[in-house]
Amino acid sequence: MNVADSRRVAAALEDLGYTPSSLAEEADVIVLNTCVVRQSAEDKAYGRLNSLKPIKKKRPETVINLMGCLVGVKGHEILRDRFPMVDVFSPPSDPGPLIAHLTQDESRAFEDAATSRRFAFMDGELTLPVEERGNLVSAFVPIVLGCSHACTYCIIPYKRGIERSRPVDDIVAEVRSLASQGVKEITLLGQIVDRYGKDIPDGPNLAQLIRLVHEVDGLERIRFLTSHPNWMTTELLDTVAELPKVMPHIEVPVQAGHDEVLANMKREYTADDYRHLVADIRTRIPNVSIATDIIVGFPGETDDQFQSTYNLLAELKMDVAHLARYSTRPGTVADRRMVDDVSDEKKWERFRALEELQEGIASEINARYQGETVDVLFEEKVRGRWRGRTPTNKLVFVETDDDLTGKLLPVMITWAGPWSMQGMFLTRPAGGAIPLTLGISSRETG
Ligand code: SAH
Repeated sequence: MNVADSRRVAAALEDLGYTPSSLAEEADVIVLNTCVVRQSAEDKAYGRLNSLKPIKKKRPETVINLMGCLVGVKGHEILRDRFPMVDVFSPPSDPGPLIAHLTQDESRAFEDAATSRRFAFMDGELTLPVEERGNLVSAFVPIVLGCSHACTYCIIPYKRGIERSRPVDDIVAEVRSLASQGVKEITLLGQIVDRYGKDIPDGPNLAQLIRLVHEVDGLERIRFLTSHPNWMTTELLDTVAELPKVMPHIEVPVQAGHDEVLANMKREYTADDYRHLVADIRTRIPNVSIATDIIVGFPGETDDQFQSTYNLLAELKMDVAHLARYSTRPGTVADRRMVDDVSDEKKWERFRALEELQEGIASEINARYQGETVDVLFEEKVRGRWRGRTPTNKLVFVETDDDLTGKLLPVMITWAGPWSMQGMFLTRPAGGAIPLTLGISSRETG
């Protein structure tokens, strides 16, 4: 979501005539986008913010924009007092305050009009090299902003505000515009993406929205995340199975495998509900891959309760498990009413146990790709190798001197590890022997 927010601000700045720079030191505008989902992310955000102090001191005219969840939607007086060097504070997903600041100051706009003005990005959790936006193959499109669910551990509803669905026309227009700029893949985003449209009377639901987006010419792949088990419908799963551009990959976090922990997290489903959902996903979508999120060390989690989570993952064998150690977030229900009583050491122990388990599971699943030919959408060259993804969202690297940006090509998998794969072309892609859109509707056996 933060990457999507950063791109939105970058696009707004480019509309104003600013050009991207990868050097904060030489930029006229520095945007620091921030994440606070865990303490480690928040610490990084403060670290980056402090690193901007010398730049602002040396060049006071530099506009510093602090954005995202560190600012939040509820006011930021404390931050304003603590960091007077920040010129503009922006809540998540909103380029408005920065654009207003830059355009209100007419003398600046006028004076600088002749010279070229530059902006740089810094991201609290991940750095976004601006150069990458030049050849954008895959783009994120937020469709649900905020969240109203209030899982007890989660700070996002407090920082991103209540759940709001974006109007369907805005979304379709944005997807059309992205496709016309050469974007081949879009990922529709929401904290609970399956709740799309619930706040719009007579509006489409997620499955119906996907059908509309599917019509957009030039677009080759559609993904969406993140799903909540209680809001996935059979209509949605059947739509994924039916429409060729919708990729067979589902991100649906379980968070824990013990019913008492799930209840304390206020997830509102049981481990058995999740089992049934996974079975249903796998029945309805052939060769689907499923990713989950798990938090270890939630307040009160016993060894036995953790063991239930371990066993559930071992039983369900997910393609990907995003693991996190519980980090108490100020203001959340878990922070106010529960004690963060699992030691750091225990959290690490549980984290490593799941990591090791998942490495085995992913190795086993991915080994089935060895020798198979799969359609890979290539994004960019990273350290000499082209990086792309299979329909199931597996990372594939291929070595070639050809420019593969945005190309969708069949690749034979020659090596498969737990976190990525390597492959080769059976025919040189530049030779013209392989049509670029060959087999986009076929799905790999796996
Ligand atoms: N709404 C989305 C994104 C939530 S944040 C979703 O449900 O996936 C992404 C992940 O961060 C969550 O799934 C959860 O596993 C993790 N997370 C959220 N709050 C956390 C906390 N306080 N401590 C540790 N991990 C947390």
